[in-house]
Amino acid sequence: MHDHTSFQVAQLPALQDNYIYLILPRHSTSCLVVDPAETVPVIDACQQLERQPDYILNTHHHWDHTGANLELKRMFGCKIIGSAEDKERIPGLDLTVCEQPSTSLGGLRVRVIETPGHTRGHIVYLIEDALFCGDTLFGAGCGRLFEGTAEQMWSSLKRLARLPEPTRVYCAHEYTLANLAFASRVDADNPALSMRLKQARACREKASPTIPSTIGLELQTNPFLRVLNDDFRRHYAMRHGIEQDEISVFAHLRRKKDRL
Ligand SMILES: [Zn+2]
Repeated sequence: MHDHTSFQVAQLPALQDNYIYLILPRHSTSCLVVDPAETVPVIDACQQLERQPDYILNTHHHWDHTGANLELKRMFGCKIIGSAEDKERIPGLDLTVCEQPSTSLGGLRVRVIETPGHTRGHIVYLIEDALFCGDTLFGAGCGRLFEGTAEQMWSSLKRLARLPEPTRVYCAHEYTLANLAFASRVDADNPALSMRLKQARACREKASPTIPSTIGLELQTNPFLRVLNDDFRRHYAMRHGIEQDEISVFAHLRRKKDRL
């Protein structure tokens, strides 16, 4: 269980490597569910925690984020929130949202940030210092470009990179180790990266999650956010004989990772 000021977060492993999050406002019997990939882990956790889901927050339409939408809605009557872009393709969508600095859901102030790139309707939810970022930003990685351009994804990632460094990053997949292996190939001389790799290995050996991380840790060790570091960017661009601007380097890194 992860603590924030006005809520706690329960992290539920699902499918092969997904995380579903339950946001548990303090002094309440209800909860919000982020990206329910599967029904059973959510029902079990709700029973154990004596909570009733009021809202489902979807970051995007992919099945491993929305698979339990309809069943949970049928069982609990919860309202499903997602991007207006995904009106036709998020199962059971009740309320569409777009970029907004603050809206109230389940008694919590929620900021919605549009982050197109992985899909065109991808959004993330920021509640206090907890960022639920779906498949946009991962531990030491970022989502694949299924529907967006490198330019779009880069501007989405940059917006997340500007959040305060202690912001906790609750992404939707446990991909950290594989991402760190790639990071070590392109950013070999980064001591923060070697340290993170050691810690992540120790976590996974105990079958513990490496998530949440923080924006600060991602800035230091995530190769895609390292593009913001002038030395890293110049060095990488020179080594690969490409332009030194952020988008060229980001796009090259993303393509290199896709080819693995
Ligand atoms: Zn996805």
